[in-house]
Amino acid sequence: MPTSQSTASIDTLPVALVEFSAGARIAVLLPLPVNTPYDYLVPDDCVLAPGDVVEVSVGRRIETGVVWGAGLGDVSSAKLKTVVRKLEVPALPDVLLRFIDWVAGYTLQPAGQILRMAINPIRRGSAPKPATTIVASGRSFEDCNVKATPAREKIIAALAADSFPSAAALAKKSNVGAGVVRGLIDAGVLSVVETTAASPFDKLDIYHAKTVLEGDQTSAVSALFARLNAFNVTLLDGVTGSGKTEVYLEAVAETLAQGKQVLVLVPEIALTAQSIARFTGRFGGAPAVWHSDLNYKRRRETWLGAAQGDAKVVIGARSALFLPFQNLGLIIVDEEHEAAFKQEDGVIYHARDMAVVRAREGQIPIILSTATPSLETVMNVRSKRYGEVKLPRRFGAAQMPAISVVDMRKDPPEKGRWGRAWLAPSMVKAVEDTLASGEQALLFLNRRGYAPLTLCRCCGHRLSCPSCTAWLVEHRKTGRLQCHHCGYNARPPKTCPSCDAAESFVPCGPGIERVAEEAAARWPDAKIRTVASDTLDRPSSIAELIADILDGRIDILVGTQVLAKGHHFPGLTLVGVVDADLGLSGWDLRAAERTHQLLHQVAGRAGRAEKPGRVLLQTHDPNHPVMQALLSGDDETFIANEIDTRQALTMPPFGRLTALILSGPDEAAVINASRQLAAAAPRGDGFEVLGPAPAFMALLRGRHRHRLLLKTRRNIAPQLLVKEWLGRVKMPPSVRVQVDVDPYSFY
Ligand code: ADP
Ligand code: ZN
Repeated sequence: MPTSQSTASIDTLPVALVEFSAGARIAVLLPLPVNTPYDYLVPDDCVLAPGDVVEVSVGRRIETGVVWGAGLGDVSSAKLKTVVRKLEVPALPDVLLRFIDWVAGYTLQPAGQILRMAINPIRRGSAPKPATTIVASGRSFEDCNVKATPAREKIIAALAADSFPSAAALAKKSNVGAGVVRGLIDAGVLSVVETTAASPFDKLDIYHAKTVLEGDQTSAVSALFARLNAFNVTLLDGVTGSGKTEVYLEAVAETLAQGKQVLVLVPEIALTAQSIARFTGRFGGAPAVWHSDLNYKRRRETWLGAAQGDAKVVIGARSALFLPFQNLGLIIVDEEHEAAFKQEDGVIYHARDMAVVRAREGQIPIILSTATPSLETVMNVRSKRYGEVKLPRRFGAAQMPAISVVDMRKDPPEKGRWGRAWLAPSMVKAVEDTLASGEQALLFLNRRGYAPLTLCRCCGHRLSCPSCTAWLVEHRKTGRLQCHHCGYNARPPKTCPSCDAAESFVPCGPGIERVAEEAAARWPDAKIRTVASDTLDRPSSIAELIADILDGRIDILVGTQVLAKGHHFPGLTLVGVVDADLGLSGWDLRAAERTHQLLHQVAGRAGRAEKPGRVLLQTHDPNHPVMQALLSGDDETFIANEIDTRQALTMPPFGRLTALILSGPDEAAVINASRQLAAAAPRGDGFEVLGPAPAFMALLRGRHRHRLLLKTRRNIAPQLLVKEWLGRVKMPPSVRVQVDVDPYSFY
């Protein structure tokens, strides 16, 4: 967990139980790239308190902001504008204001940008019209001075039989013009009344399908229960299929029984479909869901549901952390080790780490669930900052899969009549056996498209993206070459742009489409499906795919890591990893850790029911510690080695890193600015600055990139150092500096 205290806006920390009356000076934080709130005056006949959502004018437009506390007083009252109006939405709870301040202070991201994530659903557009229904006012035609015509009679008859939300709906049903209905409303025969809309959230029944727990699970649940009523962090560490979800669902039930809300954070939306099904099965109703694919209405509804306490359980991606929960009682972070919890664009923050802070601010428990804890979490358990609850065995008859390696140096793929092959003979045999017994196989390769590189056979020219330091990836499905970094895509050129040779391009290396091509050639009768994030980006398509797998409409899945996590497919008994070494190359301090986690997760898809599972890892380096750990199942040794390496290098979690990424369209300006920044770098004991150096992706979306890395001892908070450092150098307007505290990617 991050330990440094917020350095931003200490003086503007919200004060609980304060109110400001007409004419008072208040600080309003705006959802813009600003660090501090601006002062405004409270309008007449209005009382405002911290957390209230207001509209204020900024320049010539109206913006939605939040009352942050008493005014700062740096502008004279005469110059201040008055708040335009208070919005009729629940105020942001005090704990959320404190949390936003803390996150801003820790991540060095503008507080306003973080507020923006918190109020986006209520920021845009006007409040939706309240639900209405049309009723007879009780006054007759005569009372209202209108003649009784057949059309009017029809309206009254329709209204007696049914209820209608609008004049148009009523007119349609009675087969008359809408003007006739409006005439009756104007005359007073009918009136429009506001109705309270039915809650959009399902009722949850904690007794709906209570699970009968077995051995370890029972003690795990009691251990979690004992920790439910205070702030603490618990690692729920159990092998895949051990029942972690069943166990934390009991903690959810207990929290609901106390009348409190629960937030479940999942690393990506691909996981929500299955989580929703599990929750619905357990509680007889669906949880509220939060992710970027929701429409505005849904988002607003969920925001209000969280604020009013109607949304009892929210399952969501990262930004659900900033919902204004009225009475949050428990946070669960599922697959806590996932790098996807780190948001890298826009506001840069790590949702798992910030979830721990949110729990602390709210004095509530948090559970981190995973089969492969991150090294950060392991160290926090060892130092007793976090508690640990273990589930060492798979549930029921399910056994851990048998893992073996295929040494690609000794057992290379044989060339097929369709060209190069990627599956070694022993892998081919394993797939055949699986198909013969009517079971399913997953061929896993973490690479989208057909081939990651296309080059000219004549001159060796590689097709690369015009705006990024990246090769173009061929996608045969769409017939295009794509950049996976900026979205650039083009039709393959007819001739080589470098030597003009015609028909000279050759694909190099496999993506999932190419492996699927091989599978189709080898097993023409098998039902094969490729699965990747670009074809599987909505909960509905994921749900369909899951149904297809469960119902046996697929024999061989060829997929990237979208399928690696969380899912439970009883018929899937073989997992073949096409390239287990992928991900181990390149400079990333967590390369081994991540590859281990990923392969462990993928392996965990095999044999989750009665049928035993098998995992084959194709590798060129069977002695690599990652392969050895997977083979032996001895994670302890692997983790101990990782810890030693990181400790020796004082790399996280034994030291702290903060990356500064400078970027701009003009390379010379970026280089110049990064040299200036390096020259002004802080100097002292316990920290050092590495760089500047061109980033691994020296060009990204047309911007040139250079990096600096501040490395500090664990007990030195980098925030103040970085703030002062950036304050010493004036950046040219064309150069942007992004600060990434605790970076997870180094490209
Ligand atoms: P994990 O989250 O650790 O991967 P799950 O909670 O998904 O494990 O459990 C794996 C499978 O075993 C699921 O299908 C789950 O419903 C089932 N299961 C686990 N524990 C029980 C139990 N006590 N009773 C019935 N089914 C269980
Ligand atoms: Zn690109």
